[in-house]
Amino acid sequence: MPVPPKPFTQECSKCGWKHTVRPVSDVLLIPVRCPRCDNPDLIRRRPSYFEQVWSKLIGK
Ligand SMILES: [Zn+2]
Repeated sequence: MPVPPKPFTQECSKCGWKHTVRPVSDVLLIPVRCPRCDNPDLIRRRPSYFEQVWSKLIGK
């Protein structure tokens, strides 16, 4: 059984930009660099409950 992909949040350590990724729909949209300051050193972490709900609401 494959493990279903879990959402995660990417956060920029420089400018504070963050984006919650839902792998099912966003698999091709995972940024490798911060779109705001071009920092390639993005932090990947589990999203908080609020961020998951927010991500569903705004569809991003
Ligand atoms: Zn940044």
